[in-house]
Amino acid sequence: MSNADKPATSALLKQAHNNMPLGVADSYRYWGEENTVFVKSSLGCTITDADDQQFIDFRLAYGPIILGYRDSRVDQEVVAAITERGTISGFSTELDSQVIELIKQMCPNIEKMRFANSGTEAVIGAVRTARGFTNRNKIVVVEGGFHGLYDEMMWKSDVDNWDSETQAAPKITAFGGGIPEASREHLETVPLNDFAAIDEVFTRVGDDIAAIVIEPILGNCGSIASSQEYMQKLRDMCDANGTLLIMDEVKTGFRVAKGGAQELYGIHADLTTYAKAMGNGYPVAAFGGRSDIMDVISFGKKGVTHGGTYTANMIALSAAKATLTILNETNAYDSINKAGADIQQVLSRVFTKHGIEHQFAGPDAMFGIHFGCQVPQNYRDWKKTDSNLYTEFAHNLIKSGIMLEPDSREPWFICESHKDIDLAKLELIADAAMAKAIA
Ligand code: PLP
Repeated sequence: MSNADKPATSALLKQAHNNMPLGVADSYRYWGEENTVFVKSSLGCTITDADDQQFIDFRLAYGPIILGYRDSRVDQEVVAAITERGTISGFSTELDSQVIELIKQMCPNIEKMRFANSGTEAVIGAVRTARGFTNRNKIVVVEGGFHGLYDEMMWKSDVDNWDSETQAAPKITAFGGGIPEASREHLETVPLNDFAAIDEVFTRVGDDIAAIVIEPILGNCGSIASSQEYMQKLRDMCDANGTLLIMDEVKTGFRVAKGGAQELYGIHADLTTYAKAMGNGYPVAAFGGRSDIMDVISFGKKGVTHGGTYTANMIALSAAKATLTILNETNAYDSINKAGADIQQVLSRVFTKHGIEHQFAGPDAMFGIHFGCQVPQNYRDWKKTDSNLYTEFAHNLIKSGIMLEPDSREPWFICESHKDIDLAKLELIADAAMAKAIA
């Protein structure tokens, strides 16, 4: 069903066009007049739109939902906290340390932290701290990574308009208007898993590189993962050069394992950013790592400034405390990983039946699907996959009640509630969606 058959959605979108650019509160929510979604309610792993179509949701709001929508264990703790204690006071509460101590149990490399309200803010804090600690300027990022909507990180490798047959690197372009050219002055971009490129940038400007900022598994490029060797190379290069390794675990943190991607690799970052899954959908984020680095956050001429009116508010921290306690003390990850593996098996059977070469990338809790014969190693490889077929398949799934981002750069997210979905039904829907996509 498209919006042509959805009177309530069409009316809401029409009204919203009078109130917001594109009629949405976040530009990525605009899927065109035919497909933009208005949600009425959510529960478990489902969302229901304004016209009462229910979807099994694998998009999960771009990843924060890890237990399920409206998890009563989390919601009750938040309601109790704000009704008994209020939302903010502009002062500290005992929750600050309680949440960090929980995180330290799950992520043993974290020594000190600060909170933030979004992944973007957490990255800003980590990068500023790294620059303050090293007294250097440059930041190295990986093509296809995403670190939030602030000017310096809003430069992308333009793989969409790149000819994959050439050897030349894709152009680096701004996300859009309003981004000053000067904001890219200190940004260096390398392709993931390319050892020569990282050597080249360290040879050229190594003594001014404050940090490498990397999503260890590209949660914004189909869950393409850094190889173990590449991650070790980054760790070694940083150690040898006095550069900090910042792992942006906004998507992977508390999702792919208790200790995030760092637990899977067994390699520690100097600083890490967290958000999304740490609050099961409540807006909470944090960054932290080595004490000696974090302690540059201070006053004075050399002290790094960090703070914010809403930082560590009661809603955010009570949600984080409840979510992290559940993730730490129950077998939620077993359920999530099993559901993710089962779903991939179902999808793989469907693709094979239709003769579609396919690859899954990344961990079970956050996997990418790539049509083609090889698992992509970086964003340039992704360009060689059949992303158009994926988009067609995804749109057909959405029409039949399976929600996902119709772009293969966004992974399938799994939450604990997916453990109860009807896999046979999913297989039938996926089968019909693929049959239609290749017809
Ligand atoms: N870093 C990563 C890896 C992300 O995936 C995102 C958002 O998707 C961000 C940072 C920015 O987070 P937020 O949207 O909460 O500002």
